Parts: sequence; C-alpha cells; structure tokens
Amino acid sequence: MWVTHDAHNPLQRLIYHSVLLRIGCRYCIQACPYGARYLHPETRVADKCTFCYHRLVKGLLPVCVEVCPKQARVFGDMKSIASPLGRFTRMNKIHVLKPSLSTDPKVYYANLDGEVN
Ligand code: SF4
Repeated sequence: MWVTHDAHNPLQRLIYHSVLLRIGCRYCIQACPYGARYLHPETRVADKCTFCYHRLVKGLLPVCVEVCPKQARVFGDMKSIASPLGRFTRMNKIHVLKPSLSTDPKVYYANLDGEVN
C-alpha cells in the first residue's frame, strides 16, 4: 500500500495498494474503520474501491457514478465551484463517516442519518 502526494494532481491523493506486495494477511481488512476492504474471491488478497482509477486517468467517471439512474453518486473536485460536486456540496449538508477518527476521508454523504455517524 502506498500513498503518493502530488499537490497539483488530485488523482495522486488516492490510496492504492500494490497487487504484487499483497500477501493475503487480511490485516488491512480488519484495520479499516469503514469496512471498505474485502477479500477478493479470486486473488484471495485484500481489495477495495479504487475510484475506478483506470477510468479517471482517461478523463472518465467511475462506473458506479456513470450508471446510477438516480445520480445518487457525484464525483469530482471539491475545490471546483462550478463542478457538479461543488454545486452538490453547496446545496446539501454533507458529512463524512466516523469524523471522530480524524482520517480526513474523501467520501462525503448528504443527509446522513445520525445513527450511521
Ligand atoms: S465502480 Fe464505483 S465502487 Fe466500483 S471501483 Fe469504481 S468507483 Fe469504486
């Protein structure tokens, strides 16, 4: 797993893990406070959402954002006021999961039920 940080490239602020380095120990599955990791049924190592990185680098939206018939998922640059995400965050009260963990997650929820927090 590695974290790269390129201030000018928002794509480089996502966390990825190397297929080559994963050994199937499942520690990260247990450690993830969001339940975001799972054991891949074929590779038998941990896996997670990659925000469809392979599509982002081609200027495409993540698949789940593109196919959702209700536009329940909005993807983009939070800093871009004109972007759909910028508009969405201005028009909705947004939350993150488990804010008390101070992990600065980049997945936001609108109108989240207090029970979930
Ligand atoms: S389709 Fe959605 S949930 Fe699946 S990897 Fe892409 S961004 Fe993540």
